Amino acid sequence: MRVRPHSPLPSASVRSAAERRELLKAVYDEARECVRCPLHQTRTTVVFGNGNANADLMFVGEAPGANEDRMGLPFVGQAGKLLDRLLEEIGMARKDVFVANTLKCRPPDNRDPHPNEIEACRDYLDRQIELIEPVMICTLGNFATKLLRGDTTGISRLHGREELRVIGPRAVRLYPLYHPAAALYTPATLEALRSDFHRIPELLALGAPDQPEQAEAVPELEEQDALPELKEPVAVAAEAATAQLGLF
Ligand code: SF4
Repeated sequence: MRVRPHSPLPSASVRSAAERRELLKAVYDEARECVRCPLHQTRTTVVFGNGNANADLMFVGEAPGANEDRMGLPFVGQAGKLLDRLLEEIGMARKDVFVANTLKCRPPDNRDPHPNEIEACRDYLDRQIELIEPVMICTLGNFATKLLRGDTTGISRLHGREELRVIGPRAVRLYPLYHPAAALYTPATLEALRSDFHRIPELLALGAPDQPEQAEAVPELEEQDALPELKEPVAVAAEAATAQLGLF
C-alpha cells in the first residue's frame, strides 16, 4: 500500500522502487561490516531492518534483542508477534511497512543503548528514512521517540500525538507509540497502544506533508555497485539476509 502524496516530492523521490531497493541494499552492505561503535564486538548479526523498501509507513524501535541478534531480523519475539497482530487489526502486514531500530546491533544483556552508540548508528537510520521516503514514521518507545524528535520528552506524554517533523531532507508525520514490549505485560499500556495504533490508517490517508524545498541529493550508486553481490557474513544469517535484502 503506498498512499500518493498530496504535494510534489523532492527530486530524490523520482527513484523507482527498484532503485530504492538497490540503494537500500548498498547501505545494508555497509552496515553489516560496521565497526563504528563497540557493539560490533558483541553482536552476532547486524539487524538492519526489513520490510517494504517502498513503504509509506515505517516503524522505528530501540535495538535488537537476543532473538533478533540471532536471526538478523527486527521484532521477531513476543513484541514482534504483538506488532504483527496490531498490523493485522488495521488491515496491514509486515510486507506493507518497513521496520528498523535506532541501533542495528544488540546491546549486551539488552541494556539500554548508550548515547555514543545511538550517535554512531544514527546515520544508518537517517539514510533508511531518506531512501524509503515514508509518509509516516511510528516511533516505538522512548529511545526512538527522543532520537527522532530531538528532545527528552517521554513516550507516556507523547504517545498517540502525531506531529509534522523534518528528518534529514524529509518531512514526515511522526507518530510516537508505546513499544510493543512495554505493552506485553501491562494491560493499560496495551490498551493505549492498540487505541493509538488504530488511528494509523486515518493518519496515513492524509498523505505526505509538504516537503522542504531544499532536499539534499541522495548519492547515486556507482555503475559497478548497481547490483551488489550478496555475501553472507555468517551462515545463520543467510535466511535473514534473504528476507532483509530481498525485501518484500
Ligand atoms: S550499533 Fe550501529 S554504529 Fe554500532 S557497530 Fe552496529 S551498525 Fe555500527
